[in-house]
Amino acid sequence: MELQMLTCKRSTCDHPQDNEPWSKTRKCLSDRVVTQRVNFSDPNTPQDYSAKDLDEIGEFTQLISVWSDTRSIGRRVLLHHLSKETIEDILLNDSVNKKFQEFHRDITEECGAEDKQHSWAVIEKKEEVVMYGPYYPNYNKGKHSEDIIIRQTEELLESNVTCEDWTVYVFTMNSPCLSRNAEPPCMLKLVQKAKEWWLRFGVNTNIGYNKCWGFKGTKETIFRGVNYSQVEAVHKSENYEEYISQKLTGVNILCKNVYTLLRNLLKCGPFIFDLSLQGLEWKSYFKGMLTIPENAQENEKEFLKRETSRMTEEVKSLSTETCMSAGEHSKRGQAFALDYKFDLQITTGTKEKMRLVFQKCWKEMVQDKYAEILRDILTEDFNKCTNQLFIKDFVQVTSSFLHIGRIDCTDEKQQVT
Ligand SMILES: [Zn+2]
Repeated sequence: MELQMLTCKRSTCDHPQDNEPWSKTRKCLSDRVVTQRVNFSDPNTPQDYSAKDLDEIGEFTQLISVWSDTRSIGRRVLLHHLSKETIEDILLNDSVNKKFQEFHRDITEECGAEDKQHSWAVIEKKEEVVMYGPYYPNYNKGKHSEDIIIRQTEELLESNVTCEDWTVYVFTMNSPCLSRNAEPPCMLKLVQKAKEWWLRFGVNTNIGYNKCWGFKGTKETIFRGVNYSQVEAVHKSENYEEYISQKLTGVNILCKNVYTLLRNLLKCGPFIFDLSLQGLEWKSYFKGMLTIPENAQENEKEFLKRETSRMTEEVKSLSTETCMSAGEHSKRGQAFALDYKFDLQITTGTKEKMRLVFQKCWKEMVQDKYAEILRDILTEDFNKCTNQLFIKDFVQVTSSFLHIGRIDCTDEKQQVT
């Protein structure tokens, strides 16, 4: 991966006003980093700390161990989620938020906008601002973008004799993960590093993100059992006992907590969504229609194939980007099948068959999409809740050197529009 290094120098003498532009020069990292290491004392030497420090270190270590046990902390997040009526993001305070917005503008100007996961960081000194990144994950090699940020930050801090009054800003598109295969999750690594950097170099750290990733973001599996049959069963029941008594076949029964969250969510409906599916995904829902040309006479096969393709393409052009509820999507599909102008050569019997199969395929697609929307909402709320609980747990023992929160981009968006 190509390393990028941006240095934005802001001399307090040359540019006394905040709104003056910083002069920017791009430098290669290898030109910049001083390899000489300063011999710092061992950060874990207890005699250097006050009693208050020791208390905090003890509590901090305990919290790290609690959050390393993702299975039990996951249960705690679920209960926390159940006890909350509204889930709110924890935002960074105004001044830190403003800094992130400024740096974000600079990075975007230099490197372009980016929606995918990436990270960059800034070390703010009195006389200059050093920006580095953006860095991208390489999941094939098991590397997350935060790994590079940690390594680079550490090298930069270690290459300076004094880092007094410096501030580290770490941006990551999605909040650092809280669950990771084979190695400690990025959030725990970063929090531990922030503590270490504070003890060794006296620097403060701010971690800002755009989206809550929770333990593992969109790959969260806790709600994967929520399919349309479950949604219907939950919808019909008044309580968990009634839900179980329906004796659902072919599905895994939801646990009580997931049941309750889904039931609470359903009360907030109807949910509006569109059926914009990728080409292949769209086609796969109408595979059932291919049985009609397959079972037709040899001389009709090709012709009927073209007709099924024309029908599914026509409904696609009418449906994408049209937001409505599941019920409305269903009605729209049924009406489309009834009004569809079949080729005049098709017999009445075949038309009827095609309509019926189309309606069945359509219904399954709408139901699947509806269940997916619900799973996405549940997952997003769960991830938000995870971050909320994590930050609340750690804020007590890290507030003197670390701030974590979502970056509020509302001001920036208003300026753009
Ligand atoms: Zn990670």
